[in-house]
Amino acid sequence: MNRVETRGLVLYNQPYRESDMLVKIFTEQTGKRMFFVKNARDSKLTPVIQPLTQSDFILKLGQEGLGFIEDYRDSRSFTQINQDIFKLAYATYLVALADAAIQDNIPDPSLFAFLSKTLELMDDGLDEEILTNIFEVQVLSRFGVSLNFAECVVCHRLAVPLDFSYKYMGCLCPEHQAQDFNRAQVDPNVIYLLNRFQAVSFEELTTISVKPDMKAKIRQFLDQLYEEYVGIHLKAKKFIDDMADWGQLLK
Ligand SMILES: [Zn+2]
Repeated sequence: MNRVETRGLVLYNQPYRESDMLVKIFTEQTGKRMFFVKNARDSKLTPVIQPLTQSDFILKLGQEGLGFIEDYRDSRSFTQINQDIFKLAYATYLVALADAAIQDNIPDPSLFAFLSKTLELMDDGLDEEILTNIFEVQVLSRFGVSLNFAECVVCHRLAVPLDFSYKYMGCLCPEHQAQDFNRAQVDPNVIYLLNRFQAVSFEELTTISVKPDMKAKIRQFLDQLYEEYVGIHLKAKKFIDDMADWGQLLK
């Protein structure tokens, strides 16, 4: 077996046989993999195999199949996220989305870093809805989807009102809108923000502030984009959608 030291984030765990557990971990060095933990309730590993826990692991990996956690240090759980049902719902969705976006056992350190940093900022108190939108926009590339919100896809003009064309995977200016009769009219601010989200740096994030009605428009458009190009339906996302109804009661 191969011994690897890597940072890793627990995606989920599930009971296995009577007292054992299977743990899915997104590791920085070796991608996401399933690990076997014997006697999971009485193990020294118990605290570090909970979802949304990040640690520096020492792992034993086979050629294929299950790996084993040999040891860990510097474990971190996201305290603020775990104490807030809204943040927790979004964080759970991000983790499920990352899980869906890449294949097992294939390293993707940049997605790992992006997910980890996004959760860190959410834990630091940044807006969980906007962080989620940014993650959703940027992770589209992992599903093989590349969208152009910056310009008209035909003439590359900027700074004109742009409609979105699902067919052209980008925007059309008034002069070229006739090329797609099924184009969607989207609030120009939504197009502007999604374009910004595609390339936003973490430093800029603290300066982005979006009003509730604009957030709702972004949410709706992103749902349409995901329906059209990705077509996955995650339980964690359904929970967020439902939360929009009953969540108001809590707030
Ligand atoms: Zn044009």
